[in-house]
Amino acid sequence: MVQHFQFAVQSTWLFSGESLSSIIALIGVACFVYIMARRLTPLFRGQPDFRFDRPLLRLQGVLKFWLAQWKHPRYRTAGIIHILIFTGFIILAPRAFYLLIAGMSEHSVMPGLSGTASHLYDIVREYAATIVFLCMVTAAIRRLVFKPARYAVPARYGKAHTADAIFLLGLIALLMVADGLFEASQAARHAQRGQAVEFLAVLSLPWVLKSALISAPLSTLWNFQFGAYVLHDLTFFFLLCYRPFGIQFHVETSLFSVFFAKLDRGTLKPVRWGVSDEHLDQVKSFGVKTFEDFTWKHMLDFYSCADCGRCSDNCPANAVGRPLSPRFITIKARDYAFQHYPVLGRHHNGTPLIGSIYSEHEIWSCTTCGACEEECPLLAEYIDKIVDLRRGMIDDGNVPQSLQKPLKALESRGNPYGKMEKKKADWIKAKEFQQTCSVKILDGNNGADTLYFVDSITSYDDRMQAIGRATARILDHVGENFGILGADEKDSGHEVRRFGEEMLFMALRDHNVQAIKASGVQRIVTADPHAYNALKHDYKDVPPVEHISQVIASQVKAGKIKFNPLEDGKNVYTYHDPCYLGRHNQIYDDPRDVLDAIPDLKRVEMKRSRDRSFCCGGGGLMLFYEPKEDQRMGVKRVQMAAEAGANVIVTACPFCMVNIEDAIKVAGMEGKMTAIDMAELVDQQLVREIPQSV
Ligand code: SF4
Ligand code: SF4
Repeated sequence: MVQHFQFAVQSTWLFSGESLSSIIALIGVACFVYIMARRLTPLFRGQPDFRFDRPLLRLQGVLKFWLAQWKHPRYRTAGIIHILIFTGFIILAPRAFYLLIAGMSEHSVMPGLSGTASHLYDIVREYAATIVFLCMVTAAIRRLVFKPARYAVPARYGKAHTADAIFLLGLIALLMVADGLFEASQAARHAQRGQAVEFLAVLSLPWVLKSALISAPLSTLWNFQFGAYVLHDLTFFFLLCYRPFGIQFHVETSLFSVFFAKLDRGTLKPVRWGVSDEHLDQVKSFGVKTFEDFTWKHMLDFYSCADCGRCSDNCPANAVGRPLSPRFITIKARDYAFQHYPVLGRHHNGTPLIGSIYSEHEIWSCTTCGACEEECPLLAEYIDKIVDLRRGMIDDGNVPQSLQKPLKALESRGNPYGKMEKKKADWIKAKEFQQTCSVKILDGNNGADTLYFVDSITSYDDRMQAIGRATARILDHVGENFGILGADEKDSGHEVRRFGEEMLFMALRDHNVQAIKASGVQRIVTADPHAYNALKHDYKDVPPVEHISQVIASQVKAGKIKFNPLEDGKNVYTYHDPCYLGRHNQIYDDPRDVLDAIPDLKRVEMKRSRDRSFCCGGGGLMLFYEPKEDQRMGVKRVQMAAEAGANVIVTACPFCMVNIEDAIKVAGMEGKMTAIDMAELVDQQLVREIPQSV
């Protein structure tokens, strides 16, 4: 079918038809190239970003997340619509280009397809165009009638984007109709002339239009065909040039965003790519202060955002009314780029972002939980950008009042509480504990295979010390030759780094690395996911690290740990995934396997679990930050547990424990809900008389 239509166009248009098509194409392509050159200007002025490593892995990401649309079905209706549209576009792309070329050259043929393959392709693409058209109508109805909450734009973030979205949906629908009309009028003309009539896919858009046009006069049919062709041409190039002005820009940029996406979870970008820690003092300005301080990849993210709202829909800060919505971190930056790097006119840059498009509270409100990044179908990054903005604020001496004291304490004492270093190991001195377990301090006189890295909160907080003691007893029970660093251990610096204090983090890290190396241990175990993440991703040259849940799970599998049945038959347990164990490090199954190995333990899942877990409120310095919010994240989390039918929340992080226990009190659910750390529960249920081998 496609082989014949150019004949109809050219035979009637002759010279003028070819010229018109060529002129439209020439103007369209020239405008597009110019617009793209202007849009790419800020990327060339942005900071370096190292994204050219591991090309095969990146290609895999493109196949999975871009071509196979991996994350889209997480939102079923919108996801299915998007997959249909995307697949339709892929199928229709050769046809669209062929139509454009056919108008310019009488002799053009569809490359690579002829005979049956060509006919089959025609049927598939006619249905594809029909489906895309119907998807446009459905998407418009959804936006206008059903109005999913995540598309709404709160007044503080500006105007709603509905009109732009509907306009774009309308343009794509128009493109489909123009193509269908062109084909239908051609088929109707052939039928009336008694020529061989192309087979049109039954109930497809061209088929329906042909049925409506079949008895129209020949001249009208020709006008329809000619008009449809020009309309298709104009709409195609208008769309091409209009997309870089709004949310549809992702059609052009998403493939590159996905290819250059971050590959390593849990890591944080360096202050400046290409500048080593030793040379950081030569960097004049830390972090992001102006738009040009973002890296080119982060700018590309701004362009690629489809404004789908999934990030904000999953953001706990947004859910509790903090002044942060990740979607608008992106939209505001993109609007800034469009405004300050206009397609026509001079660039004007260098405006400080904090105080203009972002507020301080907005940037401090993030718990770095990663829910936004996990959800984004285009793999946009948020944590690195937010941390970079914090680095910029810290560099300008702009530190929130509530954080000044803990930061000073970290500097002078190595912990945010300002407690004495010599008290760091006091938690092992409890009399009852010493009767059950003895913990070595690796101070040069004692050696061990394994280091238990305790970190600040478990060392100093009275309640969390119970988690430390439970962890030590478990390690002892499985015959681990372990010890702690005691006064030689400083805070892991995990949150310090994520709050933008890179130099302080480096000082803490360097001290700990030296102490760990001096201890001569072969591996590290910790019960704190933040310490785990820091040791695994932020530190270099330290032995491999495991979270205690991994240690317990492997011991359970090996049959070295056995549990007594639970006696509280009425209790229903639920597991809360800590962000830095789950999302950032993909440890979802080990803690669940451990719980499921305890006889008579009834466990239910919360609606938001595993990679959709809801942050408890954040750890480390976030405990000291006083955010503006309507409700505590922890309270929302406790309510989620109650909705799931649980009355015991098990977690595997001391910070989650602080937040959840506080939230139980704030929500007035004392007596109805309790929280326990996984290590505490395991320690409580251990069958201790089974002899263990080392
Ligand atoms: S990391 Fe978490 S808190 Fe921060 S913007 Fe993303 S979802 Fe929100
Ligand atoms: S950043 Fe990603 S998830 Fe958020 S609105 Fe944009 S495309 Fe959607």
